[in-house]
Amino acid sequence: MTQSLKVYNTLTRQKENFEPLHPPFVGMYVCGPTVYGDAHLGHARPAITFDLIYRYLQHIDYKIRYVRNITDVGHLENDADEGEDKIAKKARLEQLEPMEIVQYYTDRYHANMDQLNVLRPSIEPRASGHIIEQIEMVKKILDAGFAYQVKGSVYFDVEKYSKTYNYGKLSGRVLEDLMTNTRELEGQDLKQNPFDFALWKKAGPEHIMRWPSPWSEGFPGWHLECSAMGTKYLGEIFDIHGGGMDLLFPHHEAEIAQSTAALGHESVRYWLHNNMITINGQKMGKSLNNFITLNEFFCGSHPLLEKAYSPMAIRFFILQAHYRSTLDFSNEAIQAAEKGFKRLMAAMQTLEKLKPGSKSDSNIQALNQACYDAMNDDFNSPVVIAQLFEGVRIINSVNDGHESITAEDLGLLKSTFSDFVNHILGLLPEEVGQRDLIDKLVQTIITLRRQAREAKDYKTSDLIRDELSKIGISLKDSKEGTSWEIS
Ligand code: ZN
Repeated sequence: MTQSLKVYNTLTRQKENFEPLHPPFVGMYVCGPTVYGDAHLGHARPAITFDLIYRYLQHIDYKIRYVRNITDVGHLENDADEGEDKIAKKARLEQLEPMEIVQYYTDRYHANMDQLNVLRPSIEPRASGHIIEQIEMVKKILDAGFAYQVKGSVYFDVEKYSKTYNYGKLSGRVLEDLMTNTRELEGQDLKQNPFDFALWKKAGPEHIMRWPSPWSEGFPGWHLECSAMGTKYLGEIFDIHGGGMDLLFPHHEAEIAQSTAALGHESVRYWLHNNMITINGQKMGKSLNNFITLNEFFCGSHPLLEKAYSPMAIRFFILQAHYRSTLDFSNEAIQAAEKGFKRLMAAMQTLEKLKPGSKSDSNIQALNQACYDAMNDDFNSPVVIAQLFEGVRIINSVNDGHESITAEDLGLLKSTFSDFVNHILGLLPEEVGQRDLIDKLVQTIITLRRQAREAKDYKTSDLIRDELSKIGISLKDSKEGTSWEIS
């Protein structure tokens, strides 16, 4: 099937015809999570966006290799290369091996992504498994003269790079502005310039994750892994690099600079970025306590949630906005999405029972084409959904006897729904009502357990917890009360 697909390229700031380097093969790299906590709503959007793109490219017969990394080392607490490694800190606090933290949260990330019906990538490399590749890349950048060593650490020389190449081309930032706007932070005395970034950091004595290198025993800078692993698995030039807009600067800008410095040319042909999710009009932030995890959504256990929301309601909610638009979460907005999703699923059941007639009153071919046109226009999922609701109207109208449809058109309508709803948007039927019922049942059991504890009947309260645990429901007690999740 030949489709002329247009994608918006952040690098050129325009929609371009998508022409892969070696059709039908497509290489796509997407920045994955740093695994030191449960996935929250902010993680769901890039995962679902690039899942939509992955699914559609496969649907139109591309052979795509999708690489999504796991960051398990080198992501420090702030982007200025300072502070403790996020995973090492969690490991220290919980007295675990860093790789225990990584395994635990990677498994939980996978479970959440499976619930959202996000397909697994073709390769999911970890930064800690690619230290040699990263060291080799630092050597190349040093050889090319775009990095310098200070006391066992290696930094990228942004100012020198800018004399030959254009640092800031992706984010539109200008080096002169960066120079005046970058705050001098404490502990940056090793860098020549505050906007330089670490390629390799010498590990302090307290640092647990460390590897030998020609410069020091230490660890790679956060930006380096994506340049090294993208090149390793997709080649020196590949088609798509994706991620959230929050990664545009400094992460992706640094990636372009590293790859260009090491290889002498850019690696990525199309840069795609999804926009952010706000919560009740506010950015997500630690201080606002509005990082709602996906597990909290599925159980309705966060104070900002009026009730539990199913994975498919969340998926539908995200797909109802174009990936480059902002999206605001509120209970009203997601409840509207939940209703829309139920209507769509109900219509698909009705569709199976429709009987063909001698003529068609609606143009099913045009409906099918409109769905493809929307996807070909930079993956415009909200327009696809609007077209599908036109299909819902036709289905209900035929079912009510107000219009008729030929056998051929009925077949096309069925394949349009199964292709676009199930395979491209990745929406599957689920019993939303049943999930509500389960939540209410578990809440009742939690109340009984609380009463037992208040009556100091610990035998009963422990029995309740253990029996729930046997069927895969784990309870978590905190100051705010008891929450539950399916483990
Ligand atoms: Zn990355």
